[in-house]
Amino acid sequence: MNVAILAVSILLNILFGGYVFAQNKKNATNIIFFILSFVISIWLGIFYLSLVPFSSTVNLVLVRLSLLFAVIMTLFFYFLAWVVPQEKFVMKKIHFFFIVFITCLVAGIAFSPLSFQSVAFINGFPTPAPGPGLAVFGLYVIVGAMATLVILGKKITTRKGDQKRQLIAILAGFLLMYILLIGTVFLPVALFQNTMFVPFSPFYALLFLLLTGVAILKYHLFDVRIVATEIMVSVLVVLLLFEGLTSGSIREVLFKLFMATVVGFLGIAVVRSVYREVKQREEVTHLAESLEQANLRLQELDKQKTEFLSIASHQLRTPLSIIKGYIELIEDGAYGKPTQKLRETLRDMDMSNERLIHLVDDFLDVSRIEQGRTKFNFAPHDMSALVTDVADELRARAEGKGLAIVWNPPKGVSEIRMDEEKVRHVIFNFIDNAIKYSDAGDIAVSLALERGGMAVRVRDNGIGFGKVDEANFYQKFYRGENVKGVSVEGTGLGLYVCKKFIEAHQGEVWAKSPGAGKGSEFGFWVPVK
Ligand code: ADP
Repeated sequence: MNVAILAVSILLNILFGGYVFAQNKKNATNIIFFILSFVISIWLGIFYLSLVPFSSTVNLVLVRLSLLFAVIMTLFFYFLAWVVPQEKFVMKKIHFFFIVFITCLVAGIAFSPLSFQSVAFINGFPTPAPGPGLAVFGLYVIVGAMATLVILGKKITTRKGDQKRQLIAILAGFLLMYILLIGTVFLPVALFQNTMFVPFSPFYALLFLLLTGVAILKYHLFDVRIVATEIMVSVLVVLLLFEGLTSGSIREVLFKLFMATVVGFLGIAVVRSVYREVKQREEVTHLAESLEQANLRLQELDKQKTEFLSIASHQLRTPLSIIKGYIELIEDGAYGKPTQKLRETLRDMDMSNERLIHLVDDFLDVSRIEQGRTKFNFAPHDMSALVTDVADELRARAEGKGLAIVWNPPKGVSEIRMDEEKVRHVIFNFIDNAIKYSDAGDIAVSLALERGGMAVRVRDNGIGFGKVDEANFYQKFYRGENVKGVSVEGTGLGLYVCKKFIEAHQGEVWAKSPGAGKGSEFGFWVPVK
């Protein structure tokens, strides 16, 4: 290792520290990080120089200085652990002064003859003679490092999310640096005067600084993948630079520097793309969260609407029944014999009232379904008889529009367990709709035994519908595209209720049509079991 390489790594350290500082000059974390990177750099320089044989006086000063800076470094590691990730440095005065006092004391001892008395050159290697003060120094560094670890560890257990990951990265960098420095640099130097790994110490420091710096900068978008990529790229570039600067000829140096630059640019592109991807993923997560919230809100609104519907309908139902009763009483002459004119008016009133009752009943059905209050009475009933019943009930209305209901009951048994009221409601709705939505042709009703169940089909030659409608008919409040502009009233609730009733029988419903104006088929199937 030569001085140039050391200088490059020190420069990188300080530049990076300065960059982190520049990102937020008021933030205590950034400030302390900057100071720490500075102190580490100075220490690296002095430590390196202390291993170069100058003269016994110069080397003595250097070796003491390297101890002094190691003390200051320990203090700032502690401060960094203390402050991260806050913006302000908050520490009790007494705590602060105590630590600073102890640090000054140990620094004094480190720089005094108590630590190293002299330096001799053994085999040309500068070997300082240790004094008793060295133990104090050792104790200080060990306790300091422990305290730093404890603070970081404590914070990690109490913080969550981004902050937690950020702290883990710093802790990992710190541990890694200490372990590498002690294991590969200090112990070999102290025990065997082996300086083989000394050139790596700037790397170790850089590793810590990179991890910590990135953790501080990416406070809001701290992702292990990004950090890992960044560190890999940085290490690669630095390695190439080192290699380039140590290679022999100018041509080689230039070529390797060029390579380092290319790798650097490619690396930046890679880091950017990883960054973008992570950011996008975060955005998607964020969107999903707000969507979920919106969904919950909608569900809540839907529930409120159902409750409102339920209350309103109950309030409406009673007066409508009373009106119906009075209309019948008047028709029956309870208040004197009604004139012909009055009879006609009464019939109109009754029809409007019936429509309203029907509507309110639909509302009530819907709110009962949605609140899970629908009661079902399953018992064996004859499906064929039921269809006959409903067809007879609606025949007059169909004939009023010039339509014929064609219904041929199949031969054989058609008994099935079902809630007769609910299934009647469904058949009634299908035939009623067929009458409503067609102006000519027959309405063919059929019953078939199939797939271990019974299928009822109502076919008409009415307005038909397209694919969009087909997919949506059984939804709540859906009125088809096919009825836009047609003067037929409706709420879009009928089929929804039908579907729910049939589903309660473990059955299914469908709607088919060859197209607009070509008639349609509405049907349901229920299993026999
Ligand atoms: P409403 O009839 O009150 O609008 P429904 O739920 O009974 O509500 O029907 C929903 C929609 O299904 C209707 O608006 C209409 O577009 C369509 N529809 C139902 N029956 C028929 C039919 N026999 N022919 C064509 N379209 C129909």
